Amino acid sequence: VNQSDKDSYYFETHHEKSVIDLVEWHMKTKTPVSTTSGAKLLKPIDRPPWILNHDSIKTIKKLGEGAFGEVYMAELTTDKVSIPVAVKTMREEVSRDSRLKFMKEARIMRKFHHQHVVQILGIAVHEHPLMLVMELCLGGSVLSYMRKHKGKTTLETKLRFVLEASSGLAYLEEKSCIHRDIAARNCLLTEKHAVKISDFGMSDERKTLTDERLDKVPVKWLAPETMQNKIYSSKTDVWSFGVMAYEIYSDGGEPYPTLTNIQTRAKIIVQNYRMEMPKDVPPAVVTLVSECWAKEPENRPPFSKIHERLLSEYKKEHGDPKDREKDKDKDKKEDKD
Ligand code: ADP
Repeated sequence: VNQSDKDSYYFETHHEKSVIDLVEWHMKTKTPVSTTSGAKLLKPIDRPPWILNHDSIKTIKKLGEGAFGEVYMAELTTDKVSIPVAVKTMREEVSRDSRLKFMKEARIMRKFHHQHVVQILGIAVHEHPLMLVMELCLGGSVLSYMRKHKGKTTLETKLRFVLEASSGLAYLEEKSCIHRDIAARNCLLTEKHAVKISDFGMSDERKTLTDERLDKVPVKWLAPETMQNKIYSSKTDVWSFGVMAYEIYSDGGEPYPTLTNIQTRAKIIVQNYRMEMPKDVPPAVVTLVSECWAKEPENRPPFSKIHERLLSEYKKEHGDPKDREKDKDKDKKEDKD
């Protein structure tokens, strides 16, 4: 790791608390506290420690493949306790640009503490591979869940997934974070199936930005102004959120299934075409998604409003989501196959 990279994340560490505080904080988050959607949250300590040692992290098994290296399930150990965590690694050979991106992801995530945003616990940078230590989400991505439970996921669970994602996104919007890659593949599930917004590899703290880089853009999730002028804002996340709602309600279906990327782009921009939502989607959600797909970004609702509206729809149909905590058996039943 070269010095200039180090400078970008070696900050304030001498003020940080010890790893013990971090682990205690993490253990506290395991104590059930009911929240709007039944996920767990406790206020973290003010400043969790940040830089971890490699020898405190023992990888256990591979969970997935990231853009720059593997993602592992691991055990984070301190003098007192060991806790299971997820570790995103970065191979030694990657470019300086990728390394900076990895650090930026960590630095941005570090500011967030929310029950529907993946919590970062620290970063290990003294050896290779570099490691980003995160809260473990054993349920896999929302996309893989939808595909695995095709035809079996209840409307209640689908609405809860979009509701919880909107809660995390309303928080990010408030913190002026643009995610830029909202999709069902980038929302993870905990063991108890709470949704966590994940993968901040593309995220940014500016209000709007233009990004000319063309590498692997997820065309079918992009707003028209992003496809056309490479403009990103919270409102482009709102558009992508609409596409994600389609993914969830179609049991993990591909957006615009009959169209290629190029055809999608042309139909959206030239013909103002919009996808039809699957038949059983509640009318309130259909209306909301159509607003997320407004041509003009300023006509799309903010996530704060989206969350409010989804919450009232959930309450109307299924009761208060806070009561879900008491209903864990329901989840287990859905899971049986
Ligand atoms: P990248 O953005 O570098 O491509 P991702 O963030 O998409 O990497 O992670 C790659 C895969 O690793 C994910 O699809 C998921 O399967 C797994 N993964 C990532 N973060 C976690 C986590 N916190 N808990 C469990 N699995 C995770």
